[in-house]
Amino acid sequence: LPWTACVLTLFPEMFPGVLGHSLVGRAMSEGRWSLDTIQIRDFAHDKHKTVDDTPCGGGAGLVMRPDVVADGLEEAVKRFPLAKKVFLTPRGKPLTQSKVRELAQGPGVILLCGRYEGIDQRVLDEHDDMEEISIGDYVLNGGESAATVLMEACVRLLPGVIGKEASHEDESFEAGLLEYPHYTRPRVWRGREVPETLLSGHHEKILTWRKNQARRITQERRPDLWAAYCEQTKGSA
Ligand code: SAM
Repeated sequence: LPWTACVLTLFPEMFPGVLGHSLVGRAMSEGRWSLDTIQIRDFAHDKHKTVDDTPCGGGAGLVMRPDVVADGLEEAVKRFPLAKKVFLTPRGKPLTQSKVRELAQGPGVILLCGRYEGIDQRVLDEHDDMEEISIGDYVLNGGESAATVLMEACVRLLPGVIGKEASHEDESFEAGLLEYPHYTRPRVWRGREVPETLLSGHHEKILTWRKNQARRITQERRPDLWAAYCEQTKGSA
C-alpha cells in the first residue's frame, strides 16, 4: 500500500492544491502516495450542519464541537487504522525534519485541521495517542496549509519521488546543519565569481569547503542548531 494522508477539514476543496503539482503531484498520479479528505461537516447532527459553538466561559470566537469532530476522526481511523493521528495546532511540538522522516517511514497520517479558535479539548483528551504538531510560532486561520506543509515534506522523502535518493543527504537539517551555498554557470556573473574550490575538480577539497560553509552559516544564523550540533559531534570530533 502506498503512503496515505487522510485530511479532516471543513474545506476539502483546498486539496490537493499545491500537492497536485510538480514532483509531488506526479508521485500521486504514479500511485506513490494517496490523499483522502473527510468533510468534518458531514458529521454534524442537526439540519443546519453546525460544527462549532460559542466557547464555554465566554470570550471571542467559536470552538469546534467535540461530538462532530470525534465522529469525523473516528471515520478516518476506520478507513486508515494504522495511520498516525496528528492535530495541527500552534500549541503542538514544532515540526522538524526528523519528525517528517519518522512520519514518512510509517504507513501514513490522519491530519486533523482546526478552524476558528480550535477544537474542544475533550477530543484531544479522548484521542490521547494523537500527536499535536505546529509548523511554527505564528498563527494561521486554519490547519489546511499546515497539513499541506507536513504532507509535502513527507512525500518528497518517499522512494522514487525525487530523482536521486542521494539528493536528500546534504540537505538542510539532515546532518544537523543548514546547507552550504549552491552555484551554477556562468562562472562569472556581474563580476561575481564561483568559488575557486568548486571548479577545482578536487572532490575532497570540495567536500571540506561545503562542510565549512554549512558550519559557518549554521553558526551565524541558527545558534540553537549549532549548539545541538556541537553537543552531538563532541564525542566524534
Ligand atoms: N486559538 C488558537 C491558538 O491561539 O492556539 C489558534 C487557532 S487558529 C486561528 C485555527 C486553526 O489553525 C488551529 O486549530 C490549527 O488547526 C491551525 N493552525 C494555526 N496556526 C498553526 C500552526 N502554526 N501550526 C499548525 N496549525 C496551525
